[in-house]
Amino acid sequence: MEKIAIVGGGLAGSLEAIYLAKRGFDVHLFEKRPDMRKNKISAGKSINLALSVRGINALEKAGLDKQVLATGIPMRGRMMHTTNGELNYQPYGKEDQAIYSVSRGLLNIKLLELADEFPNITLYFNTNCVKANLEEGIVYFKDENGAKSLFKADRVIGSDGAFSAIRYEMQTKGRFDYSQTYLEHGYKELCIPPNANGEFQLDKNCLHIWPRESFMLIALPNLDGTFTCTLFLQLEGALSFDSIKTPADLDAFFDTYFADAKPLIADLHHDFFNNPTGQLCTVRCYPWSNGKMTLIGDAAHAVVPFYGQGMNCSFEDCVVFDEMLEKNYPNWDAIYSEYQKARKPNADSIANLALQNFVEMRDLVGDKDFLHFKHVEHDLCELYPGTFRSQYELVTFSNEPYKYALEQGARNSELVKKIIRLGLEDKLSDKTVIQPLFDEYLK
Ligand code: FAD
Repeated sequence: MEKIAIVGGGLAGSLEAIYLAKRGFDVHLFEKRPDMRKNKISAGKSINLALSVRGINALEKAGLDKQVLATGIPMRGRMMHTTNGELNYQPYGKEDQAIYSVSRGLLNIKLLELADEFPNITLYFNTNCVKANLEEGIVYFKDENGAKSLFKADRVIGSDGAFSAIRYEMQTKGRFDYSQTYLEHGYKELCIPPNANGEFQLDKNCLHIWPRESFMLIALPNLDGTFTCTLFLQLEGALSFDSIKTPADLDAFFDTYFADAKPLIADLHHDFFNNPTGQLCTVRCYPWSNGKMTLIGDAAHAVVPFYGQGMNCSFEDCVVFDEMLEKNYPNWDAIYSEYQKARKPNADSIANLALQNFVEMRDLVGDKDFLHFKHVEHDLCELYPGTFRSQYELVTFSNEPYKYALEQGARNSELVKKIIRLGLEDKLSDKTVIQPLFDEYLK
């Protein structure tokens, strides 16, 4: 079978290796970091991630879903913490619906372990791709000592993340659209340890949010009883990472905005002043394929993390690429062309949805009108399951294209606003009243 090089052994690359190996290809997976199964290294970016239906389905195809879910913690709704410490819970969906907090490192290790079981997958670590020849399928590497090597493949998949070297090579070849847009917000991870009895200090089955209009804190549970908190805050300005310079500044900031969270974050000063401040970027590009190479995952479409979909979307790329292989192999032109045409509109849509959700999470979740809107929406979902599906449900608990979720979300919004405008909230169960509105708005 053909020799496929995959550049980047993160989440998407290692799943893709498994899919290709199952089809019998001779797969070579190159990762620039050391082997995380043997070295205690940070998996990069966030410590934990929200895994939802698209990601679970993609893992199921590799036979890994049950193992991964067994290490995940279900989060059934979001718990809002107001400035004065009140709690407000919003379920994400129906009783049995949840998103799962999973460890990025553990998930990546599980994928690599499974990949290593295939005789037709070879794993390479400390191999940093520095250059590529798109037409010839040649990838050039440097190891940690600066030693150079190259690998010639029949096909190459670039899964080397938001700052992809393979994508950079495409950029230099012309007729390539590219944009990279940074948020003015960055992020920093802080840790809530378990209490003296080893128990979680907050309800572990929720994603906790402290929305503060222009910034926010969130917390996701980990198996060891800790929560990983992420503070999203402007990088510069009056109230920003830049403006918090001393422990006294930090105390004042937390006392004012996160008074209930502050005593839970045991090493607040240490975490804040030692942990790195990450940046958040949306990357859009097209086409995703050139010569013998194609892009998957963040290399093709990095999105901001506010819908918890970057990894889920990247895993879905692997599923769609596999469907295209099934349909078109060995016609690589058709595989590449149909794959990118199918995925690009959806990648753009989830990028937009993620940006929209940042406003919703940090700004609106504490707003009375917004909460009322959400209640009406939730009631419609409960009363008309299958007929009325919220945007959140379509994105998180379905495999409908993200583009459809974005468009249907806009139609839902008009529908709910009309119900509220007409004061029909207490007639939601009366189908004769609601059906004409469904006929007008739902497609
Ligand atoms: P990556 O995970 O970035 O993997 C790329 C791999 O390529 C890495 O292993 C890297 O070392 C390697 N590499 C890079 N350059 C080279 C090179 N030159 N040569 C060889 N190897 C190379 N998504 C969700 O679905 N749910 C969430 O809750 C969520 N939370 C997030 C929170 C934060 C703060 C951030 C920043 C992101 C979050 N995401 C989330 C998004 C998610 O992390 C990414 O979408 C996902 O990691 C993409 O997977 P990937 O394999 O494409 O890229």
